[in-house]
Amino acid sequence: MNFQPVLDAIEAEVRPLLGAEGQVASYIPALARVPARQFGIALRTCEGQEAAAGDADTPFSIQSISKLFTLTLAMRRLGDALWEHIGREPSGNPFNSLVQLENEQGKPRNPFINAGAIAVADRLVSLGHAEAELIALMSNLCGEAIGYDEEVAASEAVTGFRNVALANFMKSFGKIDNDVREVLSLYFHQCAIRMSCRQLARAAGFLCRDGAHPIDGEPEITTERHARRINALMLTCGTYDAAGDVAFSIGLPCKSGVGGGIVAVVPDKLTLCVWSPALDGNGNSLLGLKALELFTARTGLSIF
Ligand code: GLN
Repeated sequence: MNFQPVLDAIEAEVRPLLGAEGQVASYIPALARVPARQFGIALRTCEGQEAAAGDADTPFSIQSISKLFTLTLAMRRLGDALWEHIGREPSGNPFNSLVQLENEQGKPRNPFINAGAIAVADRLVSLGHAEAELIALMSNLCGEAIGYDEEVAASEAVTGFRNVALANFMKSFGKIDNDVREVLSLYFHQCAIRMSCRQLARAAGFLCRDGAHPIDGEPEITTERHARRINALMLTCGTYDAAGDVAFSIGLPCKSGVGGGIVAVVPDKLTLCVWSPALDGNGNSLLGLKALELFTARTGLSIF
């Protein structure tokens, strides 16, 4: 299938809607300055065919999409022991919610809400050299050097009151081993990675290839079993309390971030990334979701 005309048509349909609805994330000041009227879409098939349209090469803050990659690292290093610390159930609550943690003794519901990602970051801090390892992984996956946006990381650190609360709350239950500041430094930095749609579509490619390296096939990034499980978590938890709706209307495992990016996986076929900064009330890109819906409707691709 030639995907380029499909992406061009989606871009043409979505662009006139830019600026009409939604809000750029404003609780992180460095993100509030990002112009809303941008839209990009890119994909890469398992065979290496690429297609892209719109602002597909504009780097943006990947935010919670980073949770995919820290989870991959933690699963790779810790195997099933990771699940002693983190659950695998959808939260049905906002991504930065504190409420479930009290009843669940500080064990986060899943690795894709903030509490879960902070718990993953704690595991990675224990293993050492986490910031360097993460950026090396991301650069290797997309075949280009990528980096942290220090301005965004600093902006998150001064305004991340909820994340500080989540980390300290989990620590009070004995669920965080390391110094909270060190754990949050990794968390704020992972959120502040800058990448484009094209780079993210490449980097997530191991998820449609049963864990094989997205470009070369080798080395294996994660096992087939882990790749399937990450996809399962993306479907059930990757878009927070919209995960049910996303499964219903898009039918693909997705992971969103408040920078406006969404990565989607069609197992054994392709990975796709859409980006548009204006968000809906759940913190998912409004036009990103719209574009994914158009994509699956037009191509017939779905995991169901
Ligand atoms: N850095 C953001 C936060 O911690 C990430 C949230 C997101 O992308 N959903 O609030």
